[in-house]
This record gives sequence, structure tokens and C-alpha cells, in this order.
Amino acid sequence: TLTLFEKIINKEIPADIIYEDEISIVIKDISPQAPTHLLIIPKKVIPKLSDASKEDKDILGHLMLLAGRIAEELGLDETFRLVVNNGAAAGQSVFHLHLHLLSGRPLNWPPG
Ligand code: 5GP
Repeated sequence: TLTLFEKIINKEIPADIIYEDEISIVIKDISPQAPTHLLIIPKKVIPKLSDASKEDKDILGHLMLLAGRIAEELGLDETFRLVVNNGAAAGQSVFHLHLHLLSGRPLNWPPG
């Protein structure tokens, strides 16, 4: 059975797609927690970051570099936050790895 994000990647479920390449897809979060709230998602299903292995190094690097590039292209003025919720107790609800990119409001520290 497919993850929600696989269905979005397969275009079985609609999403606001900001960017796509052979390794990744970037969509708007359906329930944004900031004026800009994107999800940067690898096409390979890695349920959570702690499941990633050495062979995923290029994918993980790609996602991070993409975050910086998209932030620049959207004019986020080098002010944004990346979040990875790892595990249900940390707030993860979709078990297909994704980076949250948040921007456009004050981002307090520490996060909740
Ligand atoms: P998590 O809680 O796993 O870190 O993040 C999952 C994110 O996916 C949540 O922020 C949630 O709002 C978002 N989300 C859940 N369902 C959908 C959907 O159908 N479409 C989109 N674009 N985002 C979704």
C-alpha cells in the first residue's frame, strides 16, 4: 500500500507542486503552519530519517541543497526553518520522509 506522498508523486492525489525532478518533489503543505510551508519529499520511500542508510546519502544531500535553492528562488531572504519530525511522538504523521520548509513569520526557538 502506497504512502500519501507516493500517491501525490504518482499524481493519484492532487497537490500544489512547486518543483519536481527525478529524485524529489516539493509541494505546498495542505495545512500551512507559516505563510510559506513546503514539503520537500524524496521519491524513494524512506519511512523516517532514522531509517535512512549510507546509500541514501545522495538523496539526503539533494533534499538539503534543494531547500536552500528553493528558499532563494522564492525570495525568502535567507530566513527559513527546516524541520524533520522523526517518529509519531515527535509529530510525524506521514511515514514517508519529508523536510518541512517554513518561512514568512517569526520562528521562535526552541520549537514546541
Ligand atoms: P508530519 O506530521 O509527518 O511531519 O508532516 C506531514 C505533513 O503533511 C503535515 O504538515 C500535513 O499538514 C501534510 N499533509 C497531510 N496530508 C496532506 C495532503 O493530502 N496534501 C498535502 N499537500 N499535505 C498534506
